[in-house]
Amino acid sequence: MDNPVEKNTGLNFIQHIIEEDMKSGRTVGSIHTRFPPEPNGYLHIGHAKSICLNFGLAEQYQGLCNLRFDDTNPSKEETEYVDSIMEDIRWLGFDWQDRLFFASNYFEDLYRFAVVLIKKGKAYVCDLSSEEIRSYRGTLTEPGKLSPYRERSIEENLDLFAKMRSGVFEDGSKTLRAKIDMNSPNVNMRDPVIYRILRSHHHRTGDTWCIYPMYDYAHPLSDALEKITHSICTLEFEDHRPLYDWFIEQTEVPWKPRQIEFARLNITKTYLSKRILRALVEEGWVEGWDDPRMPTLSGLRRRGYTPEAIKTFCDRIGVAKSNSTVEKEMLEHCIREDLNAHALRVMAVLRPLKIVITNYPENQVEWLETENNPEDPTAGTRKIPFSREVYIEETDFMEEPPKKFFRLSPGNEVRLKSAYIIRCDEVIKDPLTGKITELHCSYDPSSKSNQDTSGKKVKGTLHWVSAPHAIRGEVRLYQDLLLDAPVGTDQEDEEAKKSFSIQEMIRPDSREILKECYLEPSLSEAVPGAKYQFLRQGYFCLDSKNTAKEIPIYHQIVTLKDTWLKLEKSGKSNL
Ligand code: ATP
Ligand code: MG
Repeated sequence: MDNPVEKNTGLNFIQHIIEEDMKSGRTVGSIHTRFPPEPNGYLHIGHAKSICLNFGLAEQYQGLCNLRFDDTNPSKEETEYVDSIMEDIRWLGFDWQDRLFFASNYFEDLYRFAVVLIKKGKAYVCDLSSEEIRSYRGTLTEPGKLSPYRERSIEENLDLFAKMRSGVFEDGSKTLRAKIDMNSPNVNMRDPVIYRILRSHHHRTGDTWCIYPMYDYAHPLSDALEKITHSICTLEFEDHRPLYDWFIEQTEVPWKPRQIEFARLNITKTYLSKRILRALVEEGWVEGWDDPRMPTLSGLRRRGYTPEAIKTFCDRIGVAKSNSTVEKEMLEHCIREDLNAHALRVMAVLRPLKIVITNYPENQVEWLETENNPEDPTAGTRKIPFSREVYIEETDFMEEPPKKFFRLSPGNEVRLKSAYIIRCDEVIKDPLTGKITELHCSYDPSSKSNQDTSGKKVKGTLHWVSAPHAIRGEVRLYQDLLLDAPVGTDQEDEEAKKSFSIQEMIRPDSREILKECYLEPSLSEAVPGAKYQFLRQGYFCLDSKNTAKEIPIYHQIVTLKDTWLKLEKSGKSNL
């Protein structure tokens, strides 16, 4: 971290500001933050950073954090999104108690504040079209041009604004604009629009309103109405801060929140843009917002991520003032670490190859003891059945093995985990296709795990499942949904978004479905959402959605290999 404050005090720069404000008396009593999503999509892992920050600071300083839906743009908003957002925040483990708010609750107040601005000569009704407003605005190097409607009298403005509200004018034919400074070097201050006419059904206020406030206007005033002390937002709002403060100042609302900007989360190989995520869903590239390949919180939950892992991740990436991109491997590291400590180990064969143990008595079954989690001394053991026919992984056998192949091959011996040592005696093939159909092996009865008197040393240990006891399951393996995502500042991102083609960026092989997998019988007890380590294969989660399906579906959460640790040790990580 290049932030000196962080080094000296262990506080991030926002905590530092908060402590200063408490010391200086700018903040009296406790702090009050808010998480302000727009209900126009599902939350993603980037939002989790903001949620952890806002709710986390409130917890740390014994303050409060509100949930406020910023629902000022009726055309894209829906209650489905409101519900999913609340579910996701609760799942992360945060609680807004009785402080659930909607910016639309303040429409009447916001209207009243606009009238205050008009009466002070600080706002006017403008007849320019949106294209004209844009062309009058100027650029970073050229000043703007004054609107010909800028000098309307207060009386006329009050009358026209009331008529805007009562539906006299067409959509888009007039706006209410703040009267600030068309020469300001900050284009946000060049008479921004604060109300537009839009006949659109609102998910909460229905058709009550045909004028809607703009975000830059509604946001600071909503903060003030809720007595927010620290309004934390992402860096792209830094240039909007003077406008934020101007609205607070000019409307004379008796509360002054302080806006603080932090760097948004970017993750390699991951798109965190609602627009793109929505397109993936609407165009049918994925199963839905909760597709396990999506970086949404509902997708991560369905995939098997835990709230703890996500919170640890948000904690470790820290809070900074400059944009950066975190490796996806870091997020995977966090869930792997959590599951390594907590997930039960089980055996599952994903690509089965049948083995007949020719010298094992037919119909005999032994229940062998095996450990549930060697990382957790309290996890105990369980019994797994062993019989004459077992499945092993197809890739654990090679007819003509290269050197250093320590798994099964003709004449070679391996141990079946927690069971016996077996030797491959014969390879049975389909006479027509030449494909291997099964292996005939023999076992050494003196080699039983924990009671081994065989004196044999074998190099390979394989996972396996007893064939007559196995549960058939479906396993879904995942890779990144999209080819590497462009990263960088938000402006670049905007450009990248415009030219973004899902067709070109999507990976056709991002999901592989294995329909004939065999799972050990203890998994008949698995509950939806349960997470396991399939020995030697990775972590998997029982699907929580298609529970009515005949065979269980398991999602691959992560593999066992931690590529993050390597990146971190080599000093090549971004953190
Ligand atoms: P939109 O593109 O629709 O504006 P948004 O991602 O900004 O999408 P909001 O619903 O406005 O979505 O976000 C709610 C809050 O989450 C905001 O305070 C926003 O700053 C924060 N947020 C959004 N994306 C990220 C991110 N990648 N990292 C950190 N915070 C984020
Ligand atoms: Mg936003």
